[in-house]
Amino acid sequence: MRAVVIREHGGPEALRFEERPVPAPGPREVRVRVRAVGLNHLDVWVRKGVPGHLFPLPIVPGCDVAGVVDALGPGASGCATGDEVVLAPGTSCGRCLACREGSEPLCRSYGILGETRDGGLQEYIVVPDGGVFPRPEGLDLVQAASVPLTFLTAWHMLVARARVQAGESVLVHAAGSGVSSAAIQIAGLLGARVLATAGSDAKRRRALELGAEEAVDTQSDFAGAARRFTGKRGVDVVVDHVGAATFDKSIRSLAKGGRYVTCGATSGFEMKTDFRLVYFKSLSILGSTMGGNHELMRVLDHLAVGRLHAVVDVVLPWDEVAEAHRRLESREIFGKIVLVL
Ligand code: ZN
Repeated sequence: MRAVVIREHGGPEALRFEERPVPAPGPREVRVRVRAVGLNHLDVWVRKGVPGHLFPLPIVPGCDVAGVVDALGPGASGCATGDEVVLAPGTSCGRCLACREGSEPLCRSYGILGETRDGGLQEYIVVPDGGVFPRPEGLDLVQAASVPLTFLTAWHMLVARARVQAGESVLVHAAGSGVSSAAIQIAGLLGARVLATAGSDAKRRRALELGAEEAVDTQSDFAGAARRFTGKRGVDVVVDHVGAATFDKSIRSLAKGGRYVTCGATSGFEMKTDFRLVYFKSLSILGSTMGGNHELMRVLDHLAVGRLHAVVDVVLPWDEVAEAHRRLESREIFGKIVLVL
């Protein structure tokens, strides 16, 4: 079978096709014929490398995977050959306290497809049977592949970490990104009002279409916009993954008791702000990574009945994986890039 393999970190040219044997499913594992893989910024980090972090190279990238069940290993259950499925991006031990509490990302052996083990950019992938979910009705496999990582991340940020309530106000940064286009919709589903930031008129229009009440330029005085949006109060929650470039103004955008929740820092990892604001205003700074499988099931249920919508911008054949990485890094997209096999 063909697979995209990263042997050394580098530019898009580091994504090379190789021939590999078709993997055999072990006990309680399922082999899936991959049909579509959604791209994420995680794929860019894995390809480029992150200073001080060791990825297990060589690796097949791709954490968002949809396809058709092809074979079941001994004792595997929960699906049958021919089923159209979407895969949980995370894997964990399934036995520790964190796993049993549904907090799989806190498991000491938590990993992500395409980051800690081979991911979806190969014709066949083998995964634990617990991470295989039916394709939600109403979504095709391309749309299904666009969902898991971003919707799971956004759901966990808003529901489990920031605990957004109906009637609250939420500032969502970088509306064109996969996580943010999901976060805008989830905040709306929870009954919150959304102020979005985005880098272009076109992206701000799309943010409004997804349910944001107002959208402003990411480079603008968005803290001022947050005060106007809330009658001078400030927003209850900021959803951020931009990081260094937005952190200080985000803290200044919050109302008393507000929550800043982050799942990444694409503009830089080191943050600076005046911590008097944090304690005098009783603010919370919350980190968030991925989410539990029960949260992914909630998301898939909402997608199945049309209360949440996959946001796919570009669909490309997987031969164009390098071009897809270039487009993702250019940020000239709204929502997701999906590769089809
Ligand atoms: Zn565990």
